[in-house]
Amino acid sequence: MAGIVGTIQDITDLKDLQLTLKQAKDVAEQANRAKSEFLANMSHELRTPMNGVVGMAELLSMSELSEEQQDFVAAIKQSGQNLVKIIGDILDLAKIEADKVELEHSTFSLRSTIDLVLSLLHPQAQAKGLIIFNRVEPELPDLFRGDAGRLNQILLNLLGNAVKFTSQGSISITVLPGQVTDNRLTLCFSISDTGVGIPHTSLHKLFIPFSQVDSSTTRKFGGTGLGLAISKQLVELMGGTISVESVEGSGSTFFVRLPLELVVDTDTACQPLPSSLAIATNGHNPADYCILVVEDNELNLKVLELMLTKLGYRTKTATDGLKALELLKTDAINLVLMDCSMPVLDGYLTTAKIRKPETGTRKPDIPIIAITARAMYGDKEKCIQTGMNDYLAKPINCTELADKINLWLNRAS
Ligand code: ADP
Repeated sequence: MAGIVGTIQDITDLKDLQLTLKQAKDVAEQANRAKSEFLANMSHELRTPMNGVVGMAELLSMSELSEEQQDFVAAIKQSGQNLVKIIGDILDLAKIEADKVELEHSTFSLRSTIDLVLSLLHPQAQAKGLIIFNRVEPELPDLFRGDAGRLNQILLNLLGNAVKFTSQGSISITVLPGQVTDNRLTLCFSISDTGVGIPHTSLHKLFIPFSQVDSSTTRKFGGTGLGLAISKQLVELMGGTISVESVEGSGSTFFVRLPLELVVDTDTACQPLPSSLAIATNGHNPADYCILVVEDNELNLKVLELMLTKLGYRTKTATDGLKALELLKTDAINLVLMDCSMPVLDGYLTTAKIRKPETGTRKPDIPIIAITARAMYGDKEKCIQTGMNDYLAKPINCTELADKINLWLNRAS
């Protein structure tokens, strides 16, 4: 009996302890939020007078001054600008911590965003004789929906550091496609440099606010140690991740993976349906037709599927020729969009098999339109020779796609 009473007492104690801990946690979180709000408000207030200081120093430097006075003013201007940057960083971090950052969702061009950042850094890089490499995978789409300003800020920080910590060699930005989920594509950015690198033992503290690798580099290169902390918070707010690899003395690479909403080019992408399309359908109802897309590249597959759905067609997909053959044996499909180079069985061999009655597909004479990245002379001929009906070169324009589909569906009916 005593044992049972003891147990009840233990549970009561535990509950009390949990409650006390929760209350303490709530108080700490509230205090942290209050601190962030205070910092956010204060840095905001500091900006206005700082603009006055920097602006006036700027005007003063344009007036007639002795050489010595010019030096004094230049020092005021430089310190003022540094202070404005620090205040801006603190404001950003405080805003993020106080949950006050609202991300924008507007359409932007990936390539223009990168070009803008590189153009800002070009003078500094050129002054140091650094080569800049800009490698955006050509097959990547250009339009996305998201917060271009924040992406710009992240890239400016990472590329700015790359320039700052590199005295010779090159800096580069590479963008490759990652996973596609729903209508989002993960962009994989890597920002590399051939600079001083970061000691292995310091990598873990890079993304912590106000941390710098060592104070001698701080004196040499300047900065507050806030840029990477802000970048990390922003990347995570946008649903992404950031990481780093570095070899001391040889250089560093920062990796950012960011899922961004895909935008099908609205000029060409069927919003609303072009009038030519309405005429070209010759009265057929797209919903009555099923189109099979055979394409191994996840991203291209997604884009084609989106376009076809917008045009009103039903779709099936296959990521290689063998899977396509299986579907064509079992399902009622009216037309095939066929990528040419694919693993397992490429588009040419798949077409040849579809055309042979002994393969057993439901319609050996089904219209097949080739989709290929190669728009070289002779490609179209090769597609036709191997039994395809027509040919579309990437990047696919939605109106052209609609016209070709209509043409071949009408001929087949
Ligand atoms: P800041 O550059 O303003 O000091 P950051 O948060 O951007 O702040 O960077 C923190 C520290 O990380 C830098 O001070 C530097 O020591 C190190 N660091 C960042 N990027 C690089 C790089 N590309 N190469 C070498 N060190 C770097």
